[in-house]
Amino acid sequence: MRIAVSAIQGDFQEHEKVFEELGAECVELRQKADLDQDYDAFVLPGGESTVQGKLLKELDMFDIIKEKIEAGMPVFATCAGLILLAEHLENDDREYFRTLPVTVRRNAYGRQLGSFFTRGEMKHVGEIPMTFIRAPYIAEADEAEVLAETDGRVTAVRYGRQLAMSFHPELDPDRKIYRYFIDEVMNG
Ligand code: GLN
Repeated sequence: MRIAVSAIQGDFQEHEKVFEELGAECVELRQKADLDQDYDAFVLPGGESTVQGKLLKELDMFDIIKEKIEAGMPVFATCAGLILLAEHLENDDREYFRTLPVTVRRNAYGRQLGSFFTRGEMKHVGEIPMTFIRAPYIAEADEAEVLAETDGRVTAVRYGRQLAMSFHPELDPDRKIYRYFIDEVMNG
């Protein structure tokens, strides 16, 4: 199994460590030519969605990734990655892949309460740690399956082979979400 990790900006190395620990090989996507390799899924890491979106477009990687996701390539997206996938952004005029039918609100927990840790239940996964860093939340899940809610806000969804969450499982030791992605979402 080979996982293609968007390595433009953000905490992609943390995701790579987890996937490697679980037996996968990772390839880093830094330029257009990297997209020509063979791989079975994408990772869109947390970071800054505006920077990632802009660079993916400037580097001519954006359309290729979008086409592959639309053709069924699995995606594991956290935080800024969720923003990049969202069909609608509630408080931002920018638009990115729009392959995930949800409406997302950026920086939704506000600057003061920007980062926090909690534990919560995720459907199909069980109880997990959840680290939020200036996180977006999902204001409307539309056709996507709701997998987790935190303080009454949707914070994880699945739509086909796209798994996206507001929080950062790569920063916690629990591996259940990654196993769920590898065992079920990638084969879904
Ligand atoms: N606030 C960031 C954004 O809008 C996301 C934060 C994160 O990925 N931790 O892109």
